[in-house]
This record gives sequence, structure tokens and C-alpha cells, in this order.
Amino acid sequence: MEYRKRVLVTGGAGFIGSHLCDFLLAAGYEVVCLDNFVTGSRRNIEEALGNSRFSLIEADVEKPVDISVDYIFHLASPASPVDYKRIPIRTMLSNSIGTYNCLELAKKTGARLLMGSTSEVYGDPQVSPQKEDYFGFVNPVGPRSCYDEGKRFAEALCKAYEKEHETEVVIVRIFNTYGRRMRRDDGRVIPNFVCQALENKPITIYGEGLQTRSFCHVADMIRGLEAAMLTTHTQGEIINLGNPREIRIIDLANIIKEKCSSKSPFVFSELPTDDPLQRRPDIEKAMRLLGWSPKVEIEEGLDDVIEWFRQRRNGR
Ligand code: UDP
Repeated sequence: MEYRKRVLVTGGAGFIGSHLCDFLLAAGYEVVCLDNFVTGSRRNIEEALGNSRFSLIEADVEKPVDISVDYIFHLASPASPVDYKRIPIRTMLSNSIGTYNCLELAKKTGARLLMGSTSEVYGDPQVSPQKEDYFGFVNPVGPRSCYDEGKRFAEALCKAYEKEHETEVVIVRIFNTYGRRMRRDDGRVIPNFVCQALENKPITIYGEGLQTRSFCHVADMIRGLEAAMLTTHTQGEIINLGNPREIRIIDLANIIKEKCSSKSPFVFSELPTDDPLQRRPDIEKAMRLLGWSPKVEIEEGLDDVIEWFRQRRNGR
């Protein structure tokens, strides 16, 4: 019988994790999804659950997991500011003890581990665009620190395992990603603006909306994650994945309002503490090492997300 590669996706019922599970199943892998449904949802894996190559472990990643695997994608963590500010301790534990458990499993099985890190390790960056060798500008005790420092610890732990045990690790810093299956209540800017615009409710702009982000469509992100995992010469590398097109939040609000033919007014409120003023990935390394670059333009990607939220409003 042909040996099928087995992949563990922690956080596999989350937004990015569930898209990754679908992609891996379509590519012929056996997929084990580990999730505690704290921020993920069963609905995201409804289709996958019907596939005989898919299995679900409903558990916290803070508990050790003992299965045989070839690849581990460690994505389990609350990832939206609203979520991680609500459950800061769990956020820190999924990135510290959770990463430790994944690394121990990688050490034991010889699996390769992809650590799903974040652009938040750069904090409120003082340089733009952000390259992987930038150390960041992070408040260690602010409202975002549970996530930022959790991921920074996770990265350092990966490096420690690489050094002491030669564990195969690749660290990917995921920049803002959007697409179908984002939760409408996760507080992030795209679901917020799209749902507000579709319902003709006020669009909530924090600060004056002059802060920037760069938004990557989830389909591009998944291709990048797969390439980072499967390209052998990424061993030990730290790679930014994101879309380098930078956009001001106020401009994003205008695009979404227009696309939804919305009558929503804009309401402005204070910029949250430590909200980064700019964020844009330098993706030269991903292009060079992985031959990867994002393809979906924000206008096209937004059409897809708007359509999805529209269907959900209509009960589909
Ligand atoms: N934002 C906003 N209105 C909202 C939600 C977010 O103006 O209703 C802003 C937020 O202050 C930040 C940017 O949009 O500057 C992106 O926020 P998000 O929570 O999506 O992700 P972040 O990049 O901050 O983790």
C-alpha cells in the first residue's frame, strides 16, 4: 500500500487552519486536526469531517499529543486582537506550552515543524517594509503583549530545539490575512467593515484611519505555507508571508463601502493602545526561497469575502 504522508494541523478548525486542512486533503495527505474550538469552529471543518483521510482531536494544544506524523503545522492560537485580549493567558500558553508540545512531538517523530508566527513580532515597527532580520519594536507588557511575546517566545523555543536537538523547523511570520470563514465577531477590520457596510451600520474607524496594513488573501497564504513546509532548503529559516500592497484603513473603509453600495456613515474612535501605525512585509525572501508571491488583489479578494458574508446573512 502506498504510504500517505500524515500532517498534524494544530488550530485546524480555525480560519487559516481549516483552509490548510482542505488544501492538504485535496493534495492527498492524511490530515489530523487538533483544535479546542475556543476560537475555531466545527462549521469550518464540516466538509473535511466527511473525508476518510481526515481526523479530529478535540483537545488543547497545551496538553501533550502523542501520534505519528510527518509534518506539523502549529497554528493553534487566538489571533485577533479582540480574541487575545479576552483570553490572554490561554494565548500565551498555546504559544509557549503548545509550541513546546509540538516541538517535543517533532523531536520524537522526526517530523518537520512549521511554526505559525506573526507580523506582530515586529510590534509597532519603526522601519518599513519589515524584513525578517528586523528585531521589532514591541511593548512587553501592553495589551498586545500576550500575543506578541507569546509568538516571540515560540520562535525562540523553535531555535533552541533546532540548536539542541537538530529539530527541523521553519518559522513563518504571517501578516494580515483575510478570506472566507473569518468570524464576523472576531473584531478584525475586514469582517467588521464588511458586516457593518452590508447592514448599513456605522463603519467603526479607529484613530483617523491613517494607520496601514497589508492584506493577503487566504488562498495565497495557504500556497505559501505549503511551499514553506515542503521546500527542503527552508530548514531553520524565518520567512515573512503576506501581501506587500499597503493600504490605509480609511481607504479600505471607502473601498468596502463602495463595493457594498452601502449608506454606512464613518464613525471615528480612539486608536487602541499599541495599535501598530504601519505594517508591510518585505517578501523578497519568500520569493527567492519559495518562488512564492501573492496573486489575489485586494479588490478581487474583497469581492469574495463580501459575497461570503452576504450569503451568511441570508442564512446560507
Ligand atoms: N480597525 C478599525 N476598525 C475596526 C477594526 C480594526 O479601524 O473595526 C483597525 C485597527 O485599529 C488596526 C487595523 O484596523 O489598525 C487592523 O486591525 P485588525 O484587528 O484587523 O488586525 P491587527 O493588524 O491590528 O492585528
